[in-house]
Amino acid sequence: SSLHDEECDYLFKTVLIGDSAVGKSNLLSRFAKDEFHLDSKPTIGVEFAYRNIKIGDKIVKAQIWDTAGQERFRAITSSYYRGALGAMLVYDITRRGTFENVKKWLHELREYGNRDMVIVLVGNKSDLVDSREVDAEDGRSLAQLEDLCFMETSAKENLNVEDAFLQMITKIFEIVS
Ligand code: GDP
Ligand code: MG
Repeated sequence: SSLHDEECDYLFKTVLIGDSAVGKSNLLSRFAKDEFHLDSKPTIGVEFAYRNIKIGDKIVKAQIWDTAGQERFRAITSSYYRGALGAMLVYDITRRGTFENVKKWLHELREYGNRDMVIVLVGNKSDLVDSREVDAEDGRSLAQLEDLCFMETSAKENLNVEDAFLQMITKIFEIVS
């Protein structure tokens, strides 16, 4: 089946979504390459990265799609979501508006995405303690209300990034296997 290839037991497509400049691309580069960039420039076209993860005696290949800045124009197409088993919905804890838009993103996810998609709500930039505009408790309550996993991360300081991705991938594994 298409879930299998030669090197891995499972291939999971997952997507990153959320407002512009919340740190999606840096979360991905941190997870996939352990890199952080002070100013990241969106490239043209959708990009994705892979990372192999061992769960028990199985090898899961996580294919993580990143937007190329289309979120700025709310122009993410349905093909971006097609076949995705998981989504990381990211907001920026220093910009309240990005948290308020989470509901819009959830709406889009539920319109285009798989019905049993695993969704992890991520409040990124937790290192910027002095500019915080969204309490962790607000993120946690919204996640509880919407039945999502929740985590605060810092791509910059490499806090919880691994955990957030692994939580999503492990949950998908539990559903699929
Ligand atoms: P995207 O548009 O959602 O892909 O966001 P980017 O990954 O391009 O990041 C936008 C800006 O936020 C860049 O200047 C990053 O360096 C910065 N950034 C991303 N993650 C963090 C973080 O965890 N902490 C801080 N302080 N800055 C971050
Ligand atoms: Mg980006």
